[in-house]
This record gives sequence, structure tokens and C-alpha cells, in this order.
Amino acid sequence: MPSTPPVSADTESITPVLGTGPVAAHSATAAPESRIPNPESPSPQPSVPVPTPELLDQLRRDSDRLESATPKEILAWAVERYFPKLTMATAFGPEGCVILHYLAEVEPRVHVFNLDTGYQFAETLELRERIKRRYGIEVEMKQPELSVAQYEAFHGGPLYKTQPDRCCFDRKVKVLQQAAVGFDAWMSGIRRDQSPDRAKAPIVGWDKKFGLVKVSPLANWTKQDVWKLITDLDIPYNPLHDQGYTSIGCWPCTRAVMFGEDERAGRWSGFAKTECGLHSLEAASANDEAAPRATGL
Ligand code: SF4
Repeated sequence: MPSTPPVSADTESITPVLGTGPVAAHSATAAPESRIPNPESPSPQPSVPVPTPELLDQLRRDSDRLESATPKEILAWAVERYFPKLTMATAFGPEGCVILHYLAEVEPRVHVFNLDTGYQFAETLELRERIKRRYGIEVEMKQPELSVAQYEAFHGGPLYKTQPDRCCFDRKVKVLQQAAVGFDAWMSGIRRDQSPDRAKAPIVGWDKKFGLVKVSPLANWTKQDVWKLITDLDIPYNPLHDQGYTSIGCWPCTRAVMFGEDERAGRWSGFAKTECGLHSLEAASANDEAAPRATGL
């Protein structure tokens, strides 16, 4: 939650919300008794606000207008519109590091969090400390209900080997749903040229999955744009990128890519899976209610 007192944020565009609806429980299957929290139990899920058509229209206009803005200008717009009810999720990828760099210049009090699945690389966790030292921004680590040991004990082993969608849902999506409570908007570092799933991402859109406005300041930037800024300004980044890891997530589901492979080829290698579920509803969040739903989970 924001730790700073409210300022004169203009949250007018988020207020015309019609109502709320329950988030579908992932599973309500009965489970054997356990001494650890039961991940199969239908734990309370936050309700998800439903936007009005007027709000969707407004977001569409905002997004169109911001198409020609720079990432820093988009970020400043988001801060002016939504802070302190603005949050950001980062996995400390190069895009996230660029946004953190700009945040330090625009409004370092914006709440930032990381989905700490328990499976992250040591290099990723160390980067959090380097970001803190460089910018004074302390990224909050949001953990799932169960530790890795508890989760694997409950399921008889790691689910990432057999059910990565379920593992991502439990250790990322559910955590973000909880983390989103109390905020009006969230930012992510996705770029349209990263994958077909992300190609339709608007600069600003309604995120149905989390019931928030989603702002993507780097949507129309390229990989080259990101790395040029990192190099020019000596922005901290994950050293694994220098070892062939082009996209970095949890260590069991990430490998280095070979020359000529797609940027995200090293994620969930061997599975058809290409997204963790956080960004897989881009079509639905493209400010177009008629857009088809992607099936990310
Ligand atoms: S990326 Fe892999 S280890 Fe991480 S939450 Fe998803 S399936 Fe589990």
C-alpha cells in the first residue's frame, strides 16, 4: 500500500465504476488435511471493479494521445493522474529498470513491488539491492501464501515441471490480485515487440484481470531503445543478460537463448506456454470490449 500521504491526485477517471464482481476461485476441490495452509481452499479473493463505457472511452482517448509521448512523459502523466494509488510490478527486467530510473526522477514515492515466487535467481534479488542503493527506491517483495517448501510438499513436488500455468497462477497471478487491492492503476514494462501476446498492448487500458487501469510506458519502445538508455545512463541491470539470458523469470523456467532465437524463447522452454498470466489478457485490456480473450491460464 502507498506509504505516502495522498496528494492532489486526479482520480476522476476511475470513479465511474459500476460495481464489483467476484474473481473466479481457481479451484474449490477438497484437499487432504495438511498442517500448512491449503492452497486448494477457496481463500477470499478481492472483488474486481467493473469499468463504465465512459471510463473505457476515456482510457482509449488517453492512450491514443500518449502514443507519441516519451516513456518519461507517460510516466509523469500516470503519476499526475493516479498517484498515490499507482503501483508498479517489476521482475527487474531491463524495461523495469528503465522505468525505475524514470520513477526516481519523476516520483520516487510510487509504490513498486516484485512477485517474489521463491524461485527467482540470486542475481535478480541482488539487483533489487543495487536499485535501492542507486535510486533509494525499495521494491516491496510480495510472497505467495505458501513458501516453496510448503508448496512443493503439498503438491508432491514442484509444479513448474508438470503444471507451470498452475504454478504461475498460484505464485504470481494470485499474489498480484492481492497486491492490487487499494490501487487504481498499475504499471508494467511490457513492449509490443516482445511477443504476439503483447503486440496489441495499449499505452493505457483497462486490465480486466486485476480491475485496474494498466499503464505501459514502454509499449512502443524497442529492445534497442531500452538497452541504449541502459548503456547511455549506466542503469543497473541483471548480469545474467550478459550470459545470454534475454528474458529472465524464475530460474526453473528460464534458460539462455541461442543466437537467432526469439527474445522470450528461453522462458518455459519445452512448454507451449509463453506468458505467466499477468499480461496474457492484453486483447481484453486493449480498450476494446469486443476483443477476443486470450487464454493465458
Ligand atoms: S515461472 Fe516457473 S517457477 Fe515461476 S511461478 Fe511460473 S511456473 Fe512457477
